[in-house]
Amino acid sequence: MNTALRRVILVVSAGFALMLMMSAAQSVSALKVEEIAPGLYVHRGHDDVATRENRGDIANIGFIVGTRCVAVIDTGGTAQEGRALRAAIRAVTPLPVCYVINTHMHPDHIFGNVAFERDHPEFVGNATLGEAEMTHAESYLRVLHRELGTLADGSTIVPPTLPFSGDLTLDIGNRVLKLRTWKTAHTNNDLTVYDERSGTLWLADLLFVQCIPVIDGSVLGWLADIATIRQMNPRRVVPGHGPIDTPWRPALDAEEAYLAGLVRDVRAAIRQGTTMQHAIDTIGLDQRDRWRLFDIYHQRNVSTVYAELEWEQ
Ligand SMILES: [Zn+2]
Repeated sequence: MNTALRRVILVVSAGFALMLMMSAAQSVSALKVEEIAPGLYVHRGHDDVATRENRGDIANIGFIVGTRCVAVIDTGGTAQEGRALRAAIRAVTPLPVCYVINTHMHPDHIFGNVAFERDHPEFVGNATLGEAEMTHAESYLRVLHRELGTLADGSTIVPPTLPFSGDLTLDIGNRVLKLRTWKTAHTNNDLTVYDERSGTLWLADLLFVQCIPVIDGSVLGWLADIATIRQMNPRRVVPGHGPIDTPWRPALDAEEAYLAGLVRDVRAAIRQGTTMQHAIDTIGLDQRDRWRLFDIYHQRNVSTVYAELEWEQ
């Protein structure tokens, strides 16, 4: 074979390989993300429960890019959403994904983890996350398949490989992330990420904006966390649900007012000998117009708070 022909074959086969790579990359369309600070990207989830229409894409998730690698923060409600998030990262940077951080156990934040297994990152979570995921795995997967059908296919739980409690510092290359775990609040496995470079505190579900806060841990713990968050005084925050561009102080105030109102009214009800059912039927109904998804979560919140507070008398 002459040299010229060999060169043509090489060029053609290289081109073909490139086409294959591109078509593989394009088969997953990238999740829409917004760069809210240099190198810090957030995808805004739907303000809803998981449905076939929104494909389980209901949480705010995203990633932070350093000079060495990328840290993902929450991965979405399905394997498919995780793959779309991975495609969004690949559209921004060729750097490897070295950390996948889960802020807590809820399905809309963890089921995309599996899409990143091929990157062999450390999966980072609260020391209590793994057991909490094990406990809920069966019911989370059953509900996911019931609500999403085949859209849930391939979604599995990938537990943390790097569990910690207290503080953990991760360096992704000229960019330091300060992780911390919190007392039981939204769940018993909450974690936040502070990006020093941009002054952004990724609160995830410790802050709900416009969407009603959901208590799956401890209302008293959550109120204590809110006081600490206020003292931390970050430049900006990323909430787990709701708009990412609203000022955080009024949003945190509104969340605190709702939770504190529940504590006040449920305590009074318990003191007066009110049954849990009556408390559920009557407390906090004047809050309905203030919060999205009120009808789905409010009464459950009242019963959770009642169960927590009835033991303090
Ligand atoms: Zn949550």
